[in-house]
Amino acid sequence: MQLLETLLPSTCVACRKVGRTICDNCLSELEAQPRSVDRGIKGWSAIDYSKTATSAINAFKEHGRTALLGEFCKLLDTISLPENAILVGLPSSATATRKRGFVPAEILADRLARRRSVRSAHALVFSRKIADQALLSREQRETNLAGSMLAKPLSGPVVLVDDVVTTGASMREAARAMAVAGNQVTGFITIAETILKTDAEPKK
Ligand SMILES: [Zn+2]
Repeated sequence: MQLLETLLPSTCVACRKVGRTICDNCLSELEAQPRSVDRGIKGWSAIDYSKTATSAINAFKEHGRTALLGEFCKLLDTISLPENAILVGLPSSATATRKRGFVPAEILADRLARRRSVRSAHALVFSRKIADQALLSREQRETNLAGSMLAKPLSGPVVLVDDVVTTGASMREAARAMAVAGNQVTGFITIAETILKTDAEPKK
Protein backbone atom coordinates (compact mmCIF):
# COMPACT_ATOMS: atom_id res chain seq x y z
CA MET A 1 0.00 0.00 0.00
CA GLN A 2 2.67 2.48 1.02
CA LEU A 3 4.95 1.35 -1.79
CA LEU A 4 2.27 2.09 -4.37
CA GLU A 5 1.76 5.54 -2.92
CA THR A 6 5.41 6.39 -3.42
CA LEU A 7 5.48 5.13 -7.02
CA LEU A 8 2.30 6.59 -8.44
CA PRO A 9 1.61 10.32 -8.85
CA SER A 10 -0.82 11.28 -6.13
CA THR A 11 -4.00 13.33 -6.32
CA CYS A 12 -5.59 15.17 -3.42
CA VAL A 13 -8.15 12.85 -1.81
CA ALA A 14 -10.62 15.71 -1.43
CA CYS A 15 -10.30 17.96 -4.53
CA ARG A 16 -8.35 15.63 -6.90
CA LYS A 17 -5.61 18.18 -7.57
CA VAL A 18 -2.41 16.39 -8.69
CA GLY A 19 0.35 16.56 -6.11
CA ARG A 20 0.22 15.49 -2.50
CA THR A 21 -2.20 12.99 -0.94
CA ILE A 22 -4.03 15.98 0.50
CA CYS A 23 -3.31 19.47 -0.83
CA ASP A 24 -2.50 22.41 1.46
CA ASN A 25 -5.84 24.00 0.70
CA CYS A 26 -7.88 20.97 1.75
CA LEU A 27 -5.56 20.29 4.67
CA SER A 28 -6.21 23.80 6.02
CA GLU A 29 -9.90 22.86 6.20
CA LEU A 30 -9.04 20.06 8.62
CA GLU A 31 -8.25 22.38 11.48
CA ALA A 32 -8.07 20.69 14.87
CA GLN A 33 -10.82 21.87 17.17
CA PRO A 34 -10.63 19.32 19.96
CA ARG A 35 -13.81 18.92 21.94
CA SER A 36 -15.04 16.58 24.65
CA VAL A 37 -17.79 14.25 23.50
CA ASP A 38 -20.29 12.38 25.66
CA ARG A 39 -22.03 9.37 24.12
CA GLY A 40 -22.77 7.55 27.37
CA ILE A 41 -19.01 7.04 27.38
CA LYS A 42 -16.78 10.09 27.43
CA GLY A 43 -14.11 10.93 24.94
CA TRP A 44 -12.48 13.50 22.71
CA SER A 45 -12.70 14.26 19.01
CA ALA A 46 -10.30 16.44 17.05
CA ILE A 47 -12.48 17.81 14.25
CA ASP A 48 -16.02 18.13 12.88
CA TYR A 49 -17.08 15.68 10.19
CA SER A 50 -16.90 18.06 7.20
CA LYS A 51 -16.98 17.13 3.50
CA THR A 52 -13.17 17.26 3.39
CA ALA A 53 -12.92 15.12 6.52
CA THR A 54 -15.31 12.59 4.96
CA SER A 55 -13.16 12.39 1.82
CA ALA A 56 -9.94 12.02 3.78
CA ILE A 57 -11.25 9.37 6.16
CA ASN A 58 -12.86 7.39 3.32
CA ALA A 59 -9.68 7.57 1.24
CA PHE A 60 -7.77 6.08 4.17
CA LYS A 61 -10.32 3.41 5.09
CA GLU A 62 -11.63 2.34 1.72
CA HIS A 63 -8.67 3.06 -0.59
CA GLY A 64 -5.70 2.41 1.70
CA ARG A 65 -4.33 5.97 1.48
CA THR A 66 -2.15 5.44 4.53
CA ALA A 67 -0.12 8.57 3.76
CA LEU A 68 -2.98 10.38 5.53
CA LEU A 69 -2.19 8.69 8.85
CA GLY A 70 0.42 11.32 9.66
CA GLU A 71 -2.11 14.13 9.20
CA PHE A 72 -4.71 12.31 11.30
CA CYS A 73 -2.13 11.83 14.05
CA LYS A 74 -1.26 15.54 13.99
CA LEU A 75 -4.95 16.36 14.53
CA LEU A 76 -5.07 13.86 17.40
CA ASP A 77 -1.94 15.41 18.96
CA THR A 78 -4.25 18.15 20.28
CA ILE A 79 -5.80 15.57 22.62
CA SER A 80 -3.95 14.49 25.75
CA LEU A 81 -3.61 10.85 26.72
CA PRO A 82 -3.27 9.31 30.17
CA GLU A 83 0.25 8.27 31.10
CA ASN A 84 0.76 4.54 30.37
CA ALA A 85 -2.27 4.54 28.10
CA ILE A 86 -2.88 1.53 25.87
CA LEU A 87 -4.52 2.59 22.62
CA VAL A 88 -6.99 0.03 21.31
CA GLY A 89 -8.56 0.49 17.88
CA LEU A 90 -12.15 -0.58 17.38
CA PRO A 91 -12.62 -3.74 15.29
CA SER A 92 -14.09 -3.85 11.78
CA SER A 93 -16.56 -6.47 10.57
CA ALA A 94 -15.09 -9.61 8.99
CA THR A 95 -16.52 -8.53 5.62
CA ALA A 96 -14.91 -5.07 5.80
CA THR A 97 -11.58 -6.52 6.92
CA ARG A 98 -11.55 -9.02 4.04
CA LYS A 99 -12.32 -6.22 1.59
CA ARG A 100 -9.79 -3.71 2.94
CA GLY A 101 -7.04 -6.05 4.08
CA PHE A 102 -6.53 -4.04 7.26
CA VAL A 103 -8.42 -2.70 10.28
CA PRO A 104 -8.31 1.11 9.95
CA ALA A 105 -8.81 1.96 13.64
CA GLU A 106 -6.06 -0.48 14.66
CA ILE A 107 -3.44 0.94 12.31
CA LEU A 108 -4.44 4.46 13.36
CA ALA A 109 -4.00 3.44 17.03
CA ASP A 110 -0.64 1.78 16.29
CA ARG A 111 0.68 4.83 14.46
CA LEU A 112 -0.52 7.26 17.12
CA ALA A 113 0.91 5.10 19.91
CA ARG A 114 4.37 5.11 18.30
CA ARG A 115 4.20 8.88 17.85
CA ARG A 116 3.07 9.51 21.44
CA SER A 117 5.33 6.88 23.05
CA VAL A 118 2.49 4.86 24.53
CA ARG A 119 1.43 1.28 23.85
CA SER A 120 -1.22 -0.02 21.48
CA ALA A 121 -2.91 -3.40 21.30
CA HIS A 122 -5.15 -5.28 18.89
CA ALA A 123 -7.43 -6.43 21.64
CA LEU A 124 -11.00 -6.31 20.32
CA VAL A 125 -12.78 -8.60 17.88
CA PHE A 126 -16.35 -9.21 16.81
CA SER A 127 -17.56 -12.56 18.12
CA ARG A 128 -20.41 -12.73 15.61
CA LYS A 129 -21.56 -11.34 12.29
CA ILE A 130 -22.74 -7.73 12.32
CA ALA A 131 -24.48 -5.57 9.72
CA ASP A 132 -22.92 -2.36 8.31
CA GLN A 133 -23.65 0.32 10.91
CA ALA A 134 -23.75 3.06 8.26
CA LEU A 135 -26.98 1.59 6.88
CA LEU A 136 -28.76 1.44 10.22
CA SER A 137 -30.87 3.74 12.38
CA ARG A 138 -29.86 4.65 15.91
CA GLU A 139 -31.96 1.87 17.45
CA GLN A 140 -30.80 -0.73 14.93
CA ARG A 141 -27.16 0.18 15.58
CA GLU A 142 -27.61 -0.53 19.26
CA THR A 143 -29.21 -3.95 18.62
CA ASN A 144 -26.72 -4.79 15.88
CA LEU A 145 -23.76 -4.32 18.23
CA ALA A 146 -25.11 -5.41 21.62
CA GLY A 147 -22.88 -8.17 23.03
CA SER A 148 -20.99 -8.43 19.72
CA MET A 149 -17.40 -7.83 20.86
CA LEU A 150 -14.82 -9.84 22.76
CA ALA A 151 -11.74 -8.29 24.39
CA LYS A 152 -8.35 -9.54 25.56
CA PRO A 153 -7.17 -8.68 29.06
CA LEU A 154 -4.54 -5.88 29.14
CA SER A 155 -2.57 -4.24 31.90
CA GLY A 156 -3.05 -0.48 31.91
CA PRO A 157 -5.62 2.22 31.25
CA VAL A 158 -7.28 1.66 27.85
CA VAL A 159 -8.17 4.49 25.46
CA LEU A 160 -10.43 3.36 22.62
CA VAL A 161 -9.60 4.69 19.15
CA ASP A 162 -11.78 5.07 16.06
CA ASP A 163 -11.97 7.31 13.00
CA VAL A 164 -15.41 8.75 13.72
CA VAL A 165 -17.89 8.68 16.58
CA THR A 166 -21.57 8.97 15.65
CA THR A 167 -24.10 7.50 18.09
CA GLY A 168 -21.32 5.98 20.21
CA ALA A 169 -22.90 2.50 20.00
CA SER A 170 -19.55 0.93 18.96
CA MET A 171 -17.67 2.74 21.73
CA ARG A 172 -20.15 1.63 24.38
CA GLU A 173 -20.04 -1.98 23.17
CA ALA A 174 -16.22 -1.90 23.11
CA ALA A 175 -16.16 -0.51 26.66
CA ARG A 176 -18.56 -3.25 27.80
CA ALA A 177 -16.40 -5.98 26.25
CA MET A 178 -13.28 -4.40 27.77
CA ALA A 179 -14.87 -4.36 31.24
CA VAL A 180 -15.85 -8.04 30.91
CA ALA A 181 -12.17 -8.80 30.21
CA GLY A 182 -11.22 -6.87 33.36
CA ASN A 183 -9.81 -3.81 31.60
CA GLN A 184 -10.17 -0.22 32.74
CA VAL A 185 -11.35 2.05 29.89
CA THR A 186 -10.66 5.72 30.55
CA GLY A 187 -12.44 6.99 27.44
CA PHE A 188 -12.10 7.26 23.68
CA ILE A 189 -10.54 9.43 21.01
CA THR A 190 -11.62 9.86 17.39
CA ILE A 191 -10.45 11.98 14.50
CA ALA A 192 -13.95 13.35 13.90
CA GLU A 193 -17.29 13.69 15.62
CA THR A 194 -20.62 13.63 13.86
CA ILE A 195 -24.26 13.19 14.76
CA LEU A 196 -26.86 10.95 13.20
CA LYS A 197 -28.90 13.59 11.39
CA THR A 198 -32.18 11.68 11.36
CA ASP A 199 -32.92 8.04 11.98
CA ALA A 200 -34.26 7.86 8.43
CA GLU A 201 -30.99 9.07 6.93
CA PRO A 202 -28.21 7.43 8.90
CA LYS A 203 -24.70 8.67 8.18
CA LYS A 204 -21.46 7.18 9.46
ZN1 LIG B 1 -7.28 19.35 -2.20
